[in-house]
Amino acid sequence: MTPKDAADTIAAISTPLGEAGIGIVRVSGPEAAGIARSLFRPRRPRPQLLSHHLYLGQIVAPDTQEVIDEVLLTFMQGPRTYTREDVVEIHCHSGWGVLQRLLELTLACGARLARPGEFTLRAFLSGRIDLTQAEAVLEVIKARTDAGVRVAAEHLQGHLGRELKEIRETLLDLLARVEAALDFPEETAEVPATALAADLAPPLEALEALIASYREGRLLKEGLLVVIAGAPNVGKSSLLNRLLAQERAIVTEIPGTTRDLVEEVITLGGVMVRFSDTAGLRPAQDQVEELGIKRTRERLAQADLLLYLVDGSRPLTPEARQDLEDIGERIGLAVINKVDLPQELNISDLQQSTSLPVIKISALTGDGIDDLKARIVDLTLKRGLNTTGKIVTQARHYRHLSRCRDCLHQARNLLTEGEAAWELVALELQEAIRELGEITGQEVGDDVLDRIFGEFCLGK
Ligand code: GDP
Repeated sequence: MTPKDAADTIAAISTPLGEAGIGIVRVSGPEAAGIARSLFRPRRPRPQLLSHHLYLGQIVAPDTQEVIDEVLLTFMQGPRTYTREDVVEIHCHSGWGVLQRLLELTLACGARLARPGEFTLRAFLSGRIDLTQAEAVLEVIKARTDAGVRVAAEHLQGHLGRELKEIRETLLDLLARVEAALDFPEETAEVPATALAADLAPPLEALEALIASYREGRLLKEGLLVVIAGAPNVGKSSLLNRLLAQERAIVTEIPGTTRDLVEEVITLGGVMVRFSDTAGLRPAQDQVEELGIKRTRERLAQADLLLYLVDGSRPLTPEARQDLEDIGERIGLAVINKVDLPQELNISDLQQSTSLPVIKISALTGDGIDDLKARIVDLTLKRGLNTTGKIVTQARHYRHLSRCRDCLHQARNLLTEGEAAWELVALELQEAIRELGEITGQEVGDDVLDRIFGEFCLGK
């Protein structure tokens, strides 16, 4: 990420490596046009490649004149490009060999292999997009639900970044007034502390709204964690299988999830729901089990919702009673499974052991499953998922916003505590402004950029 190689021309394969109709090699930087001229033989000879036009032709190895592939090539002259530099995209047939060969030819002509996220980093460094938009690129790529795509697209358009910049501007104005009070103490009377404190209210309100939106944002990004617990054989896996058979989402990997626990994902109410199935919560019999139970407890602590399953065809066991007592007051449901069998479970017994709402299902026949799904959505997304306003989805943003709010609270307290300590107020405001700048990228260190762009795939 060092500026010393910022003038290099970079190249990468921008599509997944594999057999497919089209694969794209992208080149960005001052040499892009030259590289295109060296490798590309247009079908009809042309004196020059016009910007933002698509040309049919062949890629030919300059040394051997070997034809590598028939391609469509576009040259886009900066600054009207993704990176604001000259960009060339070569759309070839997608195959490991042809893409690799094409990439090697661009490198032989003077490009350097791009690092992960480097195209987007250049878009950020050139000022075309702010850091929230750069992060949104990854968010769009990773979004798996309609709601997730919608919010990521909002971020990509820069709505969140713009709001943050407006708040930051307001704070800069306030800081200027505080600094005036510091520099010209004799005129301090003209900068009444109470008026300044009152002017902190609108930015604070905006910050609070953004911070509150993270609940939804986190749900969109990480999904809802539902833990299914209960003794062996009550039907936990059967329930999971039934839910999956109806609603399985296409998911390969979800950020922030632990890999050593089996998790399955479905979508409900537009949100990803991650199900994790665990053993009972009873005290350990041996060490291995102890470890398992420790993990289960950790998992339970993270859960957004708990489903505690009992077998309706048997009386309530003392262990289940104990588990339900341990669970106490949580968001969850006590689920009576196997209602298709003759019932031995005394429902009032169950209701006395728990304050959780009770629901009946049969994982075998599917009875009550729709109701269960509706209850999961009701309990966790009560007001429905709000995806219309500005929504914070990144933990990083949430942290900076929370710190920014804390600084402003501090500043407000200082201003309202009689004798205003202008210097301290200025410090708090400076810190608050810096926190916002970290989000938008207006004040951000190389280490943070490395971490953010390091998450990108090659070619993005
Ligand atoms: P787990 O140990 O809690 O995961 O339980 P399983 O899902 O493996 O189920 C244990 C046994 O109960 C299996 O033989 C299932 O076929 C059976 N089972 C699960 N759900 C039902 C149900 O709703 N009705 C009936 N009759 N059997 C069920």
